[in-house]
Amino acid sequence: WSKYFVNYRGISNKKPTGDDIAGFKITIDAARNKELAEKVSLYRGDITKLEIDAIVNAANSMLKAGGGVDGAIHRAAGPRLQEECFTLGGCPTGDAKVSGGYNLPAKYIIHTVGPQDGSASKLQSCYEKCLSYQQQYNLKSIAFPCISTGIYGFPNRLAAHIALGTARKFLESNSGLERIIFCTFLQIDVDIYETLMQLYFPLE
Ligand code: ADP
Repeated sequence: WSKYFVNYRGISNKKPTGDDIAGFKITIDAARNKELAEKVSLYRGDITKLEIDAIVNAANSMLKAGGGVDGAIHRAAGPRLQEECFTLGGCPTGDAKVSGGYNLPAKYIIHTVGPQDGSASKLQSCYEKCLSYQQQYNLKSIAFPCISTGIYGFPNRLAAHIALGTARKFLESNSGLERIIFCTFLQIDVDIYETLMQLYFPLE
């Protein structure tokens, strides 16, 4: 899958500021920094193009095709995706459900419903629930869009802290997942992720 993404290394010299350290609290195990950093990538563009095991959809609780990344995924996957989604019984905020990828190059789509009320714990739960499917579906690669930061209005920077912090914690205790791709779309998120990557996944 390497042709689809740019590893953040080499494309940014932005340094996190002191304020960033006060964000999402995790324990950094320095000895494992390099090993874990090599499993994480930034990609900017359309998540539907990624030929990987699973892409995450920022869905709504009815799992009904909507706007934003959800609309793009449904359009690219084709109408059979909506048919399967309607059999899944909806999805509560903070939870995640899995469907096939249909016409997408990705094998699976993990539909998660982000908070609309700015709840950090619910957004964290979205990332955790998606990652919790790793073993069941034998996922080696997974891509996340910037969940809740579009129509649902979650603050971009806090959302990135939650995404990266949760990924870091997961990778520290899971050896099956080989690659997590953070799929950014807007320039604001590119800038934030390029900076915060160096906080959660430092290389030296
Ligand atoms: P939410 O309703 O959870 O806020 P949105 O789809 O409105 O979700 O936005 C989530 C993020 O997905 C935003 O940063 C938006 O710019 C981005 N986005 C929109 N289309 C795509 C796409 N095709 N691939 C990746 N990200 C996308």
